[in-house]
Amino acid sequence: MDEKHYKINEIFYSIQGEGYNAGRAAVFVRFSGCNLQCFFCDTRHQEGTPMTAAEICHEISRYPAQLVVLTGGEPALFTDQPLCDAIHALGRQIAMETNGTCPITVPIDHITCSPKFEFCLNAPLRISRCDELKVVYTRYNDMARYDNIQAQSYFLQPCNVGDEEQNELIVQATLDYVLHHPKWRLSLQLHKILNVP
Ligand code: SF4
Repeated sequence: MDEKHYKINEIFYSIQGEGYNAGRAAVFVRFSGCNLQCFFCDTRHQEGTPMTAAEICHEISRYPAQLVVLTGGEPALFTDQPLCDAIHALGRQIAMETNGTCPITVPIDHITCSPKFEFCLNAPLRISRCDELKVVYTRYNDMARYDNIQAQSYFLQPCNVGDEEQNELIVQATLDYVLHHPKWRLSLQLHKILNVP
């Protein structure tokens, strides 16, 4: 039987720039392909290299960090038990960044859910738990829609809309929201501020 291949956009080593693990060195495994189409998406979904689990793990093992971040694209569409087993066999911890629209039945150590139901039609949540809820804040989010989502920690991250003036307003609104609702913590995209991958 042919060995399974995963379509990988890129594997790279950097600092996690966002959310709970911000500041930690991590190996990022970026899958190609997503079931949604957000206007601010920066993934090149068409591009990708077919790789086996062994090839992915070979790349991961070139780097010393314990944390492996599965991202995309939508990694929950593609991550399966054999890939998780292979990464865990390296002694690494698996984090996943998901839009939450696909059930997750594989063993992920840290799930970050960033719902997109405000940006895309037909993007209802289909996961029952997450470790970290990360909301991309535009100033117009209906925050009541996030109140019933259970998580260990809650992050609000200003949306980069590509317009300096609008971005400043969004950052200020994000700060205001956190100051008035301290359950939420500010998340910044450190990798973009520092201009690292
Ligand atoms: S859910 Fe994420 S990967 Fe998918 S289109 Fe939206 S921003 Fe891009």
